[in-house]
Amino acid sequence: MYLKRLEISGFKSFATPLKIDLDPGVTAIVGPNGSGKSNVSDGVRWVLGEQSAKQLRGSKMEDIIFAGSESRKKVNLAEVTLVLDNEDGHMSSEYVEISMTRRLFRTGESEYYLNGTACRRKDLLDLLIDSGLGKEAYSMIGQGEVEKILSSKPEERRVMFEDAAGVLKYKSRKQQSEKK
Ligand code: ATP
Ligand code: MG
Repeated sequence: MYLKRLEISGFKSFATPLKIDLDPGVTAIVGPNGSGKSNVSDGVRWVLGEQSAKQLRGSKMEDIIFAGSESRKKVNLAEVTLVLDNEDGHMSSEYVEISMTRRLFRTGESEYYLNGTACRRKDLLDLLIDSGLGKEAYSMIGQGEVEKILSSKPEERRVMFEDAAGVLKYKSRKQQSEKK
């Protein structure tokens, strides 16, 4: 499984639709300061279910919608789509290509789509946690987080190992069924 394509529109500094095709292996994004490199990874993090505006380097969620510039008017909708290649069947889905979309309107309304069909946030998160790609998973490591891992307490480190070993999803299911 790998991230095959990223489509960003109206998200942070990306006023007009942008498509990025990616190949398996390592991809590096280079560019001058402030050109939007971190905004690309914020977009990925957002689709993976991030609910904290602070984690996305804003103060409120609306801050992720393109706010306008000298030459362009602000927009009212932010949309990011991740397309994952699932040829190897890593994701528990019959699709060989899985697209996940998150949209946010300035009115505060939000929408989620799985392969083009509207779904609940939970549907996306369930699929992600099964594949080890959830937002709490160490599939995304932000600036400063390596240091955090090294200086973490043993019990925090245990959570990371459980996550890496794929135990976390069973723990989360156990907690959910205990709640019911
Ligand atoms: P560095 O090399 O310094 O880490 P970077 O390439 O990672 O830079 P980003 O942090 O991704 O840059 O982009 C910052 C830019 O995104 C800033 O110019 C900021 O004004 C712009 N930006 C962020 N949110 C919005 C928004 N909602 N609307 C318009 N522009 C935005
Ligand atoms: Mg940056």
